[in-house]
Amino acid sequence: MTLIALNADVLVTMDAQRREIKGGALVADGPALLWVGATAELPAQYRRMADEGQARVLDMRGKVVTPGLVNTHHHMYQSLTRAVPAAQDAELFSWLQNLYMLWSHLTPEMIHVSTQTAMAELMLSGCTTTSDHLYLFPNGSRLDDSIAAAQQMGMRFHAARGSMSLGRSKGGLPPDVVVEEEEAILRDSLRLIQQYHDGSRHSMLRVVLAPCSPFSVTRDLMRESAVLARAHGVSLHTHLAENDNDVAFSREKFGLTPAQYAEDLGWVGRDVWHAHCVKLDPEGIALFARTGTGVAHCPCSNMRLASGIAPIRGMRDAGVPVALGVDGSASNDGAHMLGEARQAMLLQRVGYGPAAMSAREALEIATLGGARVLNRDDIGALAPGMSADFVAFDMEAVGYAGAGHDPVAALVFCTPANVSSSVINGRVVVEDGRLLTADLPVVLGQHRRLARSLFERAAGQ
Ligand SMILES: [Zn+2]
Repeated sequence: MTLIALNADVLVTMDAQRREIKGGALVADGPALLWVGATAELPAQYRRMADEGQARVLDMRGKVVTPGLVNTHHHMYQSLTRAVPAAQDAELFSWLQNLYMLWSHLTPEMIHVSTQTAMAELMLSGCTTTSDHLYLFPNGSRLDDSIAAAQQMGMRFHAARGSMSLGRSKGGLPPDVVVEEEEAILRDSLRLIQQYHDGSRHSMLRVVLAPCSPFSVTRDLMRESAVLARAHGVSLHTHLAENDNDVAFSREKFGLTPAQYAEDLGWVGRDVWHAHCVKLDPEGIALFARTGTGVAHCPCSNMRLASGIAPIRGMRDAGVPVALGVDGSASNDGAHMLGEARQAMLLQRVGYGPAAMSAREALEIATLGGARVLNRDDIGALAPGMSADFVAFDMEAVGYAGAGHDPVAALVFCTPANVSSSVINGRVVVEDGRLLTADLPVVLGQHRRLARSLFERAAGQ
């Protein structure tokens, strides 16, 4: 059915001219946008359809409408392990060691329900496309468990098949119980690509190959994954240069900086994005810019683990594609996409001064930046032919009181709000602030029960 949104206070297009249309309107048919402009200029045939009840009409009066936000880094299963006391005050490596054993008790049901929960939270915060990096598969868990959750929730999904193969006994960081054999990883990766990957325009599901990090897999697996991904046209994703220890590990084990290591492995290009890159050096920034290699910036997680301030200003000036990631819920216990855009802006200012990032640049990174890093040209902007992914924020809410001078900037400067409505692939998934694709109280009840049960299993081991 045709969907017509009318009368938005401002419609932020993120199109080539970065138009912000007062009294904005758009028309969607199925997964794609047909028309975007001012309500006063709505073509007669659409006006007639709206008047005659042949289209679903969304009245956006009092709202700012933006392209759906894009989250490029997450570990959704970690929603079960928020605010774990033993991991509250640690840096990355000891934080991981405190959590690995707990995660070894995850079940397929836990993966499924935590993914639904994490997606609900993201959708309500303005996110319409997300990636999830699942890199441990205990007790029969599979990437299929999170893919099924995404399909139920109606989110556009880049499912990253993570992996760990370098256990402690082989000099890696994770305990042996959570790692897999490399042959099995590659076999399952191929199965997932063949079974699920959809490379078409407006695709709702793409598979990504994502060995977890340089300190948890071998060079061979990084190389083989890249070969497999490129043979099938899927993207590559991992963690890189997250903090000083991460860089020290790379220099000690490989004799290379993280960026040199990535280049050596063939892990650069438009089809690759790396999470964090807090410690990417100037040569690394130049390499990423030259090759179109993407960065998922995760400001809350970087602050939570005291990893540092990623040089996003320098990356953007050099032309590195930068997107946002909320990161896993165990290192950013609040996964709010609009909130992440706000923290990205604030953290760059702490590092590089008050003009280091504007509100509009933060919004651009959260939309167009995400699309580019995921190697897509059909999301991140509202224009004819783009995917019908858009969200609306209610400017009459108390958090925006007095911010009518610049409602677009207010989205990033003011307390992060939840959306009043969200449309993904032409389907209304949030209406009047309520999620339509899941019975949220039921999902949250299951999630509470499973989070308790995960801790009981770990305690009884
Ligand atoms: Zn991560």
